[in-house]
Amino acid sequence: MDKKSFSKTRQEPSQVHGTLFLIAGSPLLQESCEDAVRTLEQPFLKANMTLKLCQGLPSRSGSSSVLTEVEEHALVEEAYGLVPSVGTRIIVTERGLYNNWFSHWYSAYSTALISVFEWEKIAPQLALSSFIGYELLLHGLRSINRVYEPGSLLHRESKGCLFDFCPDKKSIMLKLQSGVLCRPCRGHLRQLALNDNAIGAVFEEVRTLALSSL
Ligand SMILES: [Zn+2]
Repeated sequence: MDKKSFSKTRQEPSQVHGTLFLIAGSPLLQESCEDAVRTLEQPFLKANMTLKLCQGLPSRSGSSSVLTEVEEHALVEEAYGLVPSVGTRIIVTERGLYNNWFSHWYSAYSTALISVFEWEKIAPQLALSSFIGYELLLHGLRSINRVYEPGSLLHRESKGCLFDFCPDKKSIMLKLQSGVLCRPCRGHLRQLALNDNAIGAVFEEVRTLALSSL
C-alpha cells in the first residue's frame, strides 16, 4: 500500500464481488431461506454479493435442543463439505448455540452458523426470513472485505441500526423493524471502502420482510 492510499480516510467503494451460500440446517427452514433469497437477491447484487440457496442439510437428531461446541464444529464441517467452492457459507439451524448467541463465525471455514432457536419467543410477530436476511448481511460483508469484522462495529446504544449490539435478544426487533444504518456506522463502512448506500438498501429490504408478517 502506498503512502497516498494509506492516508485516505474515505475510500472509493470496493468492486470486490462475493458469493454467499445460504444453507438451511433442516427442511423446515427451507421456506424461510427461500423467502429471504427471493426478496434480497437483487439488493444484495447491487451491494456486490450474489446469494445462492443450497439444498438443506439432512436433519440430525441431537441429544438436546442446544448444540454443543463439538456439534457446532461438525455442522460447520458438513456445510464446508457441501459447498467447497470459494465463498461464504451461512448455515441456519433451529438448535441453540452453546452460549445462546444468535450466530458464530468460523473463519477457517468462511462459515457463519446462525441460530433461530426460540424465534417464536424472541420476535413472534416478525418473519423469520427477515432475521435470516439480517444475518446474511451482517456476515456476508466479510465476503467483499477481509478487514470487516461486525463485532468491532457493534454499538451498545440501541438506535434501530444494523449494528445495535442487542444484549437482550428481544431487542433485535427494533433493528429489524427500523432497517437503518446510523450516521457513524455509515462512516465506518465508507472507511472500509464498503458502499453504505447499497448496504443500507439491503437492510431496508430486510425491514420490508420483517414488516410483511405484521
Ligand atoms: Zn450504527
